[in-house]
Amino acid sequence: MKKRLFSGIQPSGEVHIGNYLGAIKNWISLLDDYDCIFSIVDYHAITVEYSPGVMQERIINAAATNIAAGLDTDRCIIFVQSQVPEHTELTWVLNTLTPMGILERMTQFKDKAQQNEKNINVGLFDYPVLQTADILLYKGQAVPVGEDQVQHIELSREIARKFNTRYGELFPEPQHILSNAPRIMGLDGKNKMSKSMNNYISLIEKPDAIWKKLSRAVTDENRKRRDDPGNPDICNVYTLHKYFSTDSELDRINKQCRSAEIGCVDCKKILSENMVKELEPIREKSLELINNPVSVMDTLNAGAEKCRKIAKETMSEVRSLMGLR
Ligand code: SF4
Repeated sequence: MKKRLFSGIQPSGEVHIGNYLGAIKNWISLLDDYDCIFSIVDYHAITVEYSPGVMQERIINAAATNIAAGLDTDRCIIFVQSQVPEHTELTWVLNTLTPMGILERMTQFKDKAQQNEKNINVGLFDYPVLQTADILLYKGQAVPVGEDQVQHIELSREIARKFNTRYGELFPEPQHILSNAPRIMGLDGKNKMSKSMNNYISLIEKPDAIWKKLSRAVTDENRKRRDDPGNPDICNVYTLHKYFSTDSELDRINKQCRSAEIGCVDCKKILSENMVKELEPIREKSLELINNPVSVMDTLNAGAEKCRKIAKETMSEVRSLMGLR
């Protein structure tokens, strides 16, 4: 029996190379070893301001791009969170086991509350409990996350333990799997790559748009002139090369940058070409799927049907243990 893995996908607009390198590639590498369930977490997405009119488009885009990038739906389930009502039902149950003080200490809540000062809602506060319900509903044992989410998985373990102690053994304690890819920085070289910071390259970017964005990307800021030697160790463009260029190209750029034999424009051109080579098939497949939303919805509906079956069984066990029927 493979262990069950659960992960959430934010329907937050275009999927960018930060998501691809930091999360999607990691998920793809886990598909054969785990029984994988991926949820497009629209109930999480509504905890911040959003436009209802574009939500469905965002869901389709997120599903299409992740599938095109390699989340093969013959080897995993992808579904939309709100299509399985048991997520919110289990959240309510788990809320009764979660002390307010623990949620107040969550770093992500503090950050998000700061960013959304005018809308610090209960959903934002309760986000980690919904996340716990997402995982426990499927008795998820493994959760691939970035560093910033480790605290939430620790909380999930604590809540699972509390439930098991109070009502009877039911939930495994989920373990986090840290992605090998470090935080992917945006083209500004300062902030994590994100849509809100407008420092990203999306997976469906056209080749000329990739070049346009890369040509403006921040490099080693100490390298003022073409003749100045540069330092690849502090250059974000060089970091991006590590994901798209060959070892010999990396080696050559490293040496030529330090001796000022290569300029930043030429260096970025190599990166742009290599990026396009890897991303073009993903872009084509994504657009094919985005232009055929009915087939994407069919895939998501099929995934939701499988998940509803598992979720119903879990909730039935939960109610039974809690004396709710
Ligand atoms: S040559 Fe390349 S690695 Fe060196 S500073 Fe310029 S962009 Fe960065």
